Order: sequence, then C-alpha cells, then structure tokens
Amino acid sequence: MDRFKAIWITRDEETKKQHPAQIAEISGDDLMEGNVTVKVEHSTINYKDGLAITGTSPVVRRFPMVPGIDTSGEVISSDHPDYAKGDKVILNGWGVGETHLGAYADFARFNGDWLIPKPDGLTGAQCMAIGTAGYTAMLCVLALERHGITPDRGPILVTGAAGGVGSVAIAVLGKLGYHVIASTGRASEEGYLKDLGASEIMDRAELSEKGRPLGKERWAGAVDAVGSMTLANVLAQTQYGGAVAACGLAQGMDLPSTVMPFILRGVSLLGVDSVMAPRPIRIEAYDRLVADLDQDKLQSLSRTIGFDDVIGTAGELLEGKVRGRLIVEI
Ligand code: NDP
Repeated sequence: MDRFKAIWITRDEETKKQHPAQIAEISGDDLMEGNVTVKVEHSTINYKDGLAITGTSPVVRRFPMVPGIDTSGEVISSDHPDYAKGDKVILNGWGVGETHLGAYADFARFNGDWLIPKPDGLTGAQCMAIGTAGYTAMLCVLALERHGITPDRGPILVTGAAGGVGSVAIAVLGKLGYHVIASTGRASEEGYLKDLGASEIMDRAELSEKGRPLGKERWAGAVDAVGSMTLANVLAQTQYGGAVAACGLAQGMDLPSTVMPFILRGVSLLGVDSVMAPRPIRIEAYDRLVADLDQDKLQSLSRTIGFDDVIGTAGELLEGKVRGRLIVEI
C-alpha cells in the first residue's frame, strides 16, 4: 500500500490541545489493528465529525486520529470469515473516528465485526447520505413503533428538523403516514421540510426557553435531536401515554425537566444510541430504511462534496448552516 491521503488530527502533547485538522499523507503502517482493510469510497459529515474536526468537544480520544465515523467502501483484504476481497461494506460508529482511525482517508482498517454488508437496494453513496444521522433517525422511529406510537395516536414532533437526523426522520415518518410537526430555527426551509413530509412547521424558539412542567398535550411522540430545554418542553407537551425518542444534544447535554410528564401522564423517554447498537438492530434499521425512505427524498435531502471540502464544511455544519445530509467522495 503506497502512501495515501487522510485528514489527520494531532495534538500538542504538552498542553494536550488539539491542532487544527489538516490533510496529510499517511501509510498502511499508520493504520490501526483490524482484520479487514477497506478502500474507502464515500463518507459523510455528521455532527460528531464536526466536533472532532474542529476540536469543539473532546470527541477525539486517540492521537493522531483520522476522523470520520461513517465509511462505505470495498474490502481489499480480509482475515474475517464474513468478508472477502471485493465485498462492498459499510460501517457506522463503534468509536471509529474517535478512538480508532476513521473514514477520511483512502484506506481504513477495521475489526470486521463492526462492518455490515452494504444493503441491497442502496448504493454506497446513498448509504452515506443516510449515514449515522439517518440510521439514528430510523432507530428513533423503531423505538417509537416499539412503544406503540402508530400514526393514529396523533402527531409526531421532530426537533432539529432541517439537520441530518431531523431530515431523515421527517422523510421516513411522512412516508409511514404520520402527521409530522417539524421544529426548526430556519423558517426559510419550510418548503424543503414540507417536501420531505412535514405537515406543519414550528419555530424552534417556542421550545428553546424555560417552560412549564406540564403544558398542553400537543404530540403523541417526538424524535428529539436537540436535548436541553427543548427536550424538557417536548416532554411537557407530550400526550398521555406518549413517548419521546431522544438522540441528540444540539442545544445542550442538560435536561432541565421535572418528573411531572412521567408520573402524571405516563410519558416515556426512550434513549437512542447508534454507536454501540448491536448488529441485529443495525440490520433491521437498514432494512427499514430501504423500505421506508423514498430514494427521491434521500436525494433531495443530500448533496455531494469533495474530500478537500470536508474540513471547511465541518465548521459550517456546527454553525447550523448545512441542510440535511452530506455525501463525501473520498
Ligand atoms: P445537524 O447539525 O445536521 O443538525 C442539528 C440541527 O439541530 C440543526 O440543523 C438545527 O436544526 C438544530 N439546532 C442546532 N443548534 C440548535 C440549538 N441551539 N437549539 C435548537 N436547535 C438547534 O446534526 P445531526 O442531525 O447529524 O445530529 C443531531 C444531534 O444528534 C447531534 O447532537 C448529534 O450529536 C446527535 N446524534 C446522536 C446520535 C446517537 O447515537 N445518539 C447519532 C447521530 C447524531 P434547525 O436548523 O432545523 O433548527
């Protein structure tokens, strides 16, 4: 394996401060342990990738690091029984891009147990248009379904609507027949959100300030990518017996709530993690994405950027300037 390009993050070992991410040339010897080597074809930029590249939060926990939590590509060598040279595979999470060298490089080496075969019915690029954000959106939908939140129960609120998790959640829930309320700070995206499947648009400012412990019952369920005060208000306005799938912290990691929604309305808070989710639920989520995410909608919520644009775009994503999902051509 000749030298190849990668986004490379180092730190000052004295101050422990992360240096700005840069494009570097690395070699196969720099890659970490693993039994499957992949030629990376596509990746994406998730919120967490934005945090890693900019160093805004301590996402990177091993230096040097190649960030990039999502990979799609082709196996070039394998000692894992499930994979052989030429297989198309994808990977989401498992600490890749945090503790294990990630996707923003021509080649990556992984533990084969972290991979899943590229789902039939999706291209590698489409899998990255979905990426961790979209697969997490589907985990949220599955969590609500398991709780019995069917379309006839009432509206579903989606917060962080114009972001990655929100956009995919709206497209899926809309197709499944739910009445979707999209909470966004970007009024200019009303047309985009309605085309994806939202029935109503709500200004996120309605939810972002301290509210009452219990409010009017407005939705049967919610997909929350925002956390903090927003999640507290979402819970306080969830109908009797409803449920909120919480996956994100775009507003903050705190939850300034009370027990009132839980003990007076039987509301359930469903935690959703994508990083360490077991393999069967990943396969289930992708099967459902193939069935329940319209490919035209997936195209309308995603756009493609080049490898050289990743570092600059990561900062824009954290500033809330990126709509929907990004595909990165490696
Ligand atoms: P994006 O940056 O694509 O979207 C986040 C959206 O949140 C923004 O587009 C914006 O939506 C909204 N938002 C941003 N800042 C604020 C704020 N201060 N108050 C209220 N809303 C805000 O990120 P993703 O969709 O990729 O990820 C969303 C969240 O989910 C992140 O916190 C991420 O870490 C988390 N996540 C968690 C996973 C898990 O496994 N649990 C997996 C994937 C993501 P709008 O412009 O419409 O208002």
